[in-house]
Amino acid sequence: MPRPRKHRHLMREPHPAIYKPVGMPLESLERVTLLYEELEALRLADLEGQHQSDSAQTMGVSRSTFQRIVTEARRKVALALVNGAALQVEGGTFRLKTARWHCAECGHDWTLRHGSGQGEIEMCPMCGSHSIRERPAEGRRHVE
Ligand SMILES: [Zn+2]
Repeated sequence: MPRPRKHRHLMREPHPAIYKPVGMPLESLERVTLLYEELEALRLADLEGQHQSDSAQTMGVSRSTFQRIVTEARRKVALALVNGAALQVEGGTFRLKTARWHCAECGHDWTLRHGSGQGEIEMCPMCGSHSIRERPAEGRRHVE
């Protein structure tokens, strides 16, 4: 039985999309499905030009897994472009990575989504204190 796939971390909200050749009805085209984590791997490696070890860390996977994901992503994009197939972006095994913050001053907890364009967090939005820290990763209950 195949091992269940680990969730990969995404820094931005995924949006489904289909890219296809002009003038061809979608129904007549072969479809290549690019998973969200594969798109994220392309973004990190090819758009942001991140080192593979950094990209792997960002996505919460090992270097070899990241290598596998990005290789498969490039192969799929090339396949769609060269063969004139529709490239469908959907699905995958991922978890949206959010930053959870806690203010030591007033006890306020809040969540910030990475890639939301809100920039670096410097102070508590409630009291303006700088005594803030990132809370542990999601999926784990944290009791103060
Ligand atoms: Zn506060």
